[in-house]
Amino acid sequence: MITCITAGSGALSCEVSDRNTQRCRRTTWVSDMPFKRYLQNEFSWSKGVSQALKVHRCEFPVPQLYRNRKLFKVVSSCKRDGSTKHFDFSVIGSGIAGLRYALDVAKYGTVAVITKAESHECNTNYAQGGVSAVLCPSDSVENHMKDTIVAGAYLCDEETVRVVCTEGPDRVKELIAMGASFDHGEDGNLHLAREGGHSHHRVVHAADMTGKEIERALLKAIVNNPNIFVFEHHFAIDLLTCQDGSDITCFGVDTLNTETLKVVRFLSKVTLLASGGAGHIYPKTTNPLVATGDGIAIAHRAQAVISNMEFVQFHPTALADEGLPIMPTEPRENAFLISEAVRGDGGILYNLGMERFMPLYDGRAELAPRDVVARSIDDQLKKRDEKYVLLDISHKPKDEILSHFPNIASMCLQYGLDITRHPIPVVPAAHYMCGGVRAGLQGETNVQGLYVAGEVACTGLHGANRLASNSLLEALVFAQRAVLPSVDQMKSSSLDLTASNLWPRPVVPLSLGNDVRGKILSMTRELRKEMQSIMWNYVGIVRSTKRLETAEQKISEVEAKWEEYITQHGWKPTMVGPEICEMRNLFCCAKIVVSSALSRHESRGLHYTIDFPDLEESERLPTIIMPSSLVNSTWSSRQLHKQPLCQ
Ligand SMILES: Cc1cc2nc3c(=O)[nH]c(=O)nc-3n(C[C@H](O)[C@H](O)[C@H](O)COP(=O)(O)OP(=O)(O)OC[C@H]3O[C@@H](n4cnc5c(N)ncnc54)[C@H](O)[C@@H]3O)c2cc1C
Repeated sequence: MITCITAGSGALSCEVSDRNTQRCRRTTWVSDMPFKRYLQNEFSWSKGVSQALKVHRCEFPVPQLYRNRKLFKVVSSCKRDGSTKHFDFSVIGSGIAGLRYALDVAKYGTVAVITKAESHECNTNYAQGGVSAVLCPSDSVENHMKDTIVAGAYLCDEETVRVVCTEGPDRVKELIAMGASFDHGEDGNLHLAREGGHSHHRVVHAADMTGKEIERALLKAIVNNPNIFVFEHHFAIDLLTCQDGSDITCFGVDTLNTETLKVVRFLSKVTLLASGGAGHIYPKTTNPLVATGDGIAIAHRAQAVISNMEFVQFHPTALADEGLPIMPTEPRENAFLISEAVRGDGGILYNLGMERFMPLYDGRAELAPRDVVARSIDDQLKKRDEKYVLLDISHKPKDEILSHFPNIASMCLQYGLDITRHPIPVVPAAHYMCGGVRAGLQGETNVQGLYVAGEVACTGLHGANRLASNSLLEALVFAQRAVLPSVDQMKSSSLDLTASNLWPRPVVPLSLGNDVRGKILSMTRELRKEMQSIMWNYVGIVRSTKRLETAEQKISEVEAKWEEYITQHGWKPTMVGPEICEMRNLFCCAKIVVSSALSRHESRGLHYTIDFPDLEESERLPTIIMPSSLVNSTWSSRQLHKQPLCQ
């Protein structure tokens, strides 16, 4: 027997289904965002991915593509001209996950790396602290597993944790072999830092610019690979999918070239979604502007299963600009991170009265996991009505500070702050999305031909809270694990060159005129800020049912207002523009976060609600968002080409 809890908007109803058929009946739909929780011991994480969609009735007519399978030719060539391009593999995203995967699958076929800005603009490039891996004899895989599971508040999938902790060291060594250069100690061995939540020194790093070094090395290898073609400024709009009964298959992706304003269709046998996080559903985030949750929304619209979206990690220590001697003249697009490693290296947190407060909240003090530290800071700020707290590392030797944190030191110095002499003003900011597209142990999703890796994926590693430096590691491990199944899929896939005409094409709204487009854009920007501040005020570090319900209602109102405005100004549902597409995706992700948070009737890891302040063993289940219902769905939750045309 499998117990499924079907719900929407937080109103739960319980159903029991027959394990033999793996079916879960849905009787009521409260909103367009249903989700299910599965008892972990009865329903394994990876099995759940392929099974989860079996319950759905066929919603589209069976396309010709399936009826006439034998007629299809295998595409092995790479056509790089025109508005349709054919590749064996399409990779969406040029961060660590996408690039690492591209380099491996390029041994088997042609690869398009599609990325919405410049190649290096991604969360990876901003990572400071490092990559965690068991590389020291006094450490062990069991220790790393235990730390991950404790930080994840016992919601992690143990098999995933074992796989990542076991395979991690080899993936790091491969990265070094590819040319990434990390810091070494005086003994000539890799210098291993220790960060909050880790019981051992195990964080490989390149000073406090680890991500930049990894991205540099991977991009260099990509440029030298003749089988890989990088498409910068190509915004992935929606996946190209076909449905045959309950089976959905992905055949590539539609993109918008944001420089030429042309729609470019990528047809491919395998698609890897590696589009990173969703930090910009909040106004204060450490994520660069590209992190607008596009991948999660795109996958959701393509009927992929999404999981654990209530677990948004707020980094406790982003630079608080208002506390700097010289304030930046313009507000930043993304908050500058003061790495976890500063606390790992002995940094101490004080309130503005110079009282050390962390020991009052947790025995591990500054080395407690991020969720604990972020909540403690939040509590101090609210109780004392202050805008930021202070993180002090100035008691350490100057040389050590400057060699470990050159990037942080120089950024602070630009604004008149010498961190070797004075404490750093810090506040929490949205940082990492633990939830995402539900993936099995090979990065597979419930959509055939669609794999996920990196921050966009929910593999079960992080559970309710990510352990510091585990995400670069997870991206490396899953990007590699997805390679062989992708190659098998590529070899068995039959994709017709003429399949391109099966889906209607999105339209660039040139006909609307500059004035109207300008109005639509300015309204979109205004409402984007409104939506972000709703998320910050009502779906932040400390939550309550009432506030979440308020957020749900307010977001729906803002979304309705936006859709009405742009429709009245001539915008059609098939039209595309980068900021409009991002807005749809932000709405979609924000709503999923709120829905997921409302459904969790306990406080666990990153999800803390005053209405259910304790852990509940019966709630120790992943939250599963099933594909959106086509009934009552908004524009944000529908694919632009809702169904492939039949030939
Ligand atoms: C400031 C900061 C510090 C961090 N420090 C650490 C650390 O020390 N250790 C650690 O393990 N983790 C750290 N993290 C988290 C880690 O960097 C990320 O989780 C990880 O880099 C994600 O890699 P990725 O390849 O999945 O995504 P990303 O590196 O974010 O790449 C996503 C790519 O997808 C592209 N993309 C997105 N949407 C679209 C679209 N619609 N169309 C086309 N392309 C699209 C983006 O342009 C980008 O190229 C940090 C994150 C931040 C922001």
